[in-house]
Amino acid sequence: MSSARVQVAPPVPPSPIRLRTREAIEQEIQRRVDAERARLQAHVAQQRSREHFQRPRELPFTAAERDRVTILFGGLTSKHEWLIKSAFQSAGYKVEVLPTPDVASFQLGKEYGNNGQCNPTYFTVGHLIKYLQHLESSGLSRRDIIDNYVFFTAGSCGPCRFGMYEAEYRLAVQNAGFDGFRVLLFQQTDGIKAASGEPGLKFTVDFGMGAFNALNLGDIVNDIAYQIRPFEVHEGETDRVLHEVMDHLTHTVRDRRKFEIEEHAPAWVLKQLHRKKAVRDTVNILGKIHDHLYGRQTIDALAAARERIGGIDVDRLRVKPVVKVTGEFWAQTTEGDGNFRMFSFLEREGAQVMVEPIGTWIMYMLWLARAQKVYRKDIDYPAPKRTDVKGRLLRELKFQGKITGFSFGNWFWNHQYGRVVDQLGGLAHTLVPLKELAAHAAPYYNVFARGGEGHMEVAKNIYYTVNKKAHMVLSLKPFGCMPSSQSDGVQSAVMSHFKDMIFLPIETSGEGEINAHSRVQMALGEAKAKARLEFQQALESAGTSLDDIRRYVDAHPVLRRPLYHVPHRHGMTGTAAQFVLHVSDLMNGRARFSKLPGPAPRGRTMVSASASA
Ligand code: SF4
Repeated sequence: MSSARVQVAPPVPPSPIRLRTREAIEQEIQRRVDAERARLQAHVAQQRSREHFQRPRELPFTAAERDRVTILFGGLTSKHEWLIKSAFQSAGYKVEVLPTPDVASFQLGKEYGNNGQCNPTYFTVGHLIKYLQHLESSGLSRRDIIDNYVFFTAGSCGPCRFGMYEAEYRLAVQNAGFDGFRVLLFQQTDGIKAASGEPGLKFTVDFGMGAFNALNLGDIVNDIAYQIRPFEVHEGETDRVLHEVMDHLTHTVRDRRKFEIEEHAPAWVLKQLHRKKAVRDTVNILGKIHDHLYGRQTIDALAAARERIGGIDVDRLRVKPVVKVTGEFWAQTTEGDGNFRMFSFLEREGAQVMVEPIGTWIMYMLWLARAQKVYRKDIDYPAPKRTDVKGRLLRELKFQGKITGFSFGNWFWNHQYGRVVDQLGGLAHTLVPLKELAAHAAPYYNVFARGGEGHMEVAKNIYYTVNKKAHMVLSLKPFGCMPSSQSDGVQSAVMSHFKDMIFLPIETSGEGEINAHSRVQMALGEAKAKARLEFQQALESAGTSLDDIRRYVDAHPVLRRPLYHVPHRHGMTGTAAQFVLHVSDLMNGRARFSKLPGPAPRGRTMVSASASA
């Protein structure tokens, strides 16, 4: 820990009692008890004179420094990071994204941090140190680094080790010789605030909506990438196209023209508004929110991206097991050594990966806050007497006001997420319903047990199995993760109740990659067999040969477009099996061709942007 360890003088080892009489033995025991009491009392007195641990005072990050100080952040997927960086830049901040954490970061985390942490702590803490050392080796002095850089990260009050991240960062930067380096927190509960309380990082509507769009776009473009890449006809085309799409989207987030009511409202309205500043500000905020979500700049950028993605050539007849990746938040998100580069490994091994959007975790936070409010209603809002009708009514109004806030937040995020999914061609998945997840988990796991992913690891395993959305669930759980260890204990009971479940938990750490990959290969073998059997059954029920299906697809190029909508068959998991059934319906006149999403408006198509954000 960062505070000095309290040293207790060791007790004097007892010498064997060789006294003969009972009285002498009693006296000797009394003497030793007195000696031990004196030792402990001296220790307590020494402790009382010590000062309580105080968090070290930190240099503030002030508004005046915004042009000079660079904000560092990282820890998500590269697509999220590109987009969030653009949201920061759009708000006028200097910002740098840390590269993906690797094993060297993990080792630095172990060297400069506390012992006994969970794996993501080592990776992320060491990662910051690695970057600061890189800055130093590029010629900057430590003083320059401390004065001109700050680190922005998420924080929490627990209950798992996430609550200790802030302290870990501070300890590690201190141990590595960057004492005084500033850490800014995005608190799960309080929003953004500098640990020092200074408003260097200001939460404006434009910044908030930019970050909101960035998170959703990052989730959805990631999902699209993993759904197209396994079926791409021309190797590397998906990554190439999505790189251009990301370039375009990041430019849109970064360079968007900000809405100001003065540029849109007629003069007579402005005259009225200027008389009432509060009304003017409210209207301006609503206009900004609308512009970020529904404005021309956003809609055109999405349409251009959709058109570009829609041009990729795919072959959906490749039989691939669908592998849903779940687990701890960071382990299931990072794209590097922190999870043994699991996503690229799975794809190389022939799987179609279903990644987890960050949106699910945000929905979980909202769901949990609402569920706790409902559960604690009688504690937080004590019921007045039965005869106090007015009091009871007011109590209900207050309570419903809170609940409605959570319900609105949940509806709003899901609705906007679904809109962006549609605008980008309808290929990505919508967010999973948290109510259904909680219902699946409840028989096995207390849904109010917080920390990490809470009950979601158990719930997702059941959800993706019973709804036949994945052939296999792979849970990435960091070494030393407390909530994941709890889930692990429960998963064996879950597996014994769902016989056709293929579930593999993998403990991620700084080492053991070969072992982890070989375990995944074994489970993947089973999932592949499941996918092949399903495909065979689909072909048999279609009553058509694979060659006939292929010929039909070749004659109808629209079926090779990734955004062509293949209707979902309940009970079918694999992309190839679903596709075969749909094509056979088309061949036999039982179905009509789905309509492709419309092209981008004329003059709004995507030009390959030259510079990345
Ligand atoms: S969820 Fe697990 S791995 Fe993540 S911060 Fe908490 S204890 Fe660490």
